[in-house]
Amino acid sequence: MSTSIKKIGVLTSGGDAPGMNAALRAVVRTAAYHKVECVGIQQGYQGLIDNKVKVMNARSVNNIINKGGTVLKSARCLEFRTKEGRQTAFKTVQKHGIEALVIIGGDGSFTGAMIFQSEFNIPVIGIPGTIDNDIFGTSHTIGYDTALNTVIEAIDKIRDTAISHNRLFFVEVMGRDAGHIALNTGIGAGAEEVLIPEEDMGLDRLLDSLKRSEKSGKSSSIVVVAEGDKTGKNVFEIAEYVEKNMPYYDVRVSVLGHMQRGGSPSCFDRVLASRMGVSAVEALLQGKSNMMVGMKSEEIIFSPLEKAIKGKSEINKDLIRVSDILTI
Ligand code: ADP
Repeated sequence: MSTSIKKIGVLTSGGDAPGMNAALRAVVRTAAYHKVECVGIQQGYQGLIDNKVKVMNARSVNNIINKGGTVLKSARCLEFRTKEGRQTAFKTVQKHGIEALVIIGGDGSFTGAMIFQSEFNIPVIGIPGTIDNDIFGTSHTIGYDTALNTVIEAIDKIRDTAISHNRLFFVEVMGRDAGHIALNTGIGAGAEEVLIPEEDMGLDRLLDSLKRSEKSGKSSSIVVVAEGDKTGKNVFEIAEYVEKNMPYYDVRVSVLGHMQRGGSPSCFDRVLASRMGVSAVEALLQGKSNMMVGMKSEEIIFSPLEKAIKGKSEINKDLIRVSDILTI
């Protein structure tokens, strides 16, 4: 490795995601492997401001690879958005002799990292940890696969009760700006329709589709709705509209909420997080900075943080086609 970095800091920031611990473990152990000191910063950028820093070695991260959430804890930190806040944070960096940072988080955390890097010239590498998979420069973010599995399990259970009572269920899943979770779980759980932020399906088309299904002999159905679906209506308003127009249906709403963030990470997320953690530290030691580690076609790649933040992670249009065909 070509730089003289002797100490790195790592933090988890923004919304938590299953697999953040596996990424943390990989960062700490890769640092130890390369004989670089490592400190963990608690509660994201808030911990930098409040000087909540602890020394970490290979044994500090025993038995966390299987744990959801983040043992370092995460936080949304308003103070870090101000110049004064970041100056206080940099004092902590100097005090502990931290020479580079690994930031595990989403696009907000990466924005903070980029600004911090430009103001104080400290090398930073981002690891994408968010269940929404809404980050450009990687096919998968850490936590997304686990969230998909959690949602599928929940919808399978809802289906049991939907069938037993001839009910029409509207299931709201996470995704304010991105329909990845809704679209994939919609297909995976065999939903009747999927409403996502990227495509305006329109309530009339939804009604037509449900009427067609009803005519073709379906007595129960599941519609998956992303939080930020393009109709601009929330899941309760959509359900109410459908109930008014199809009074013979027994309509129910289920909002899955925060359970989608929790749980033990899937094997996929653990492996992804492990690979990204190793690559993030090695990238810093090779002199890279201001980059995000990602994965494309099973290979680790790097993108400028700016691109990761500004670029859009597009949904796969073929999935919409597949979903349409299979709900015949
Ligand atoms: P996520 O990383 O999951 O997108 P947030 O958007 O809440 O989550 O961002 C996490 C944290 O990153 C914020 O609480 C704040 O401390 C920091 N951050 C976000 N945007 C900025 C910004 N424009 N300037 C400085 N810090 C920021």
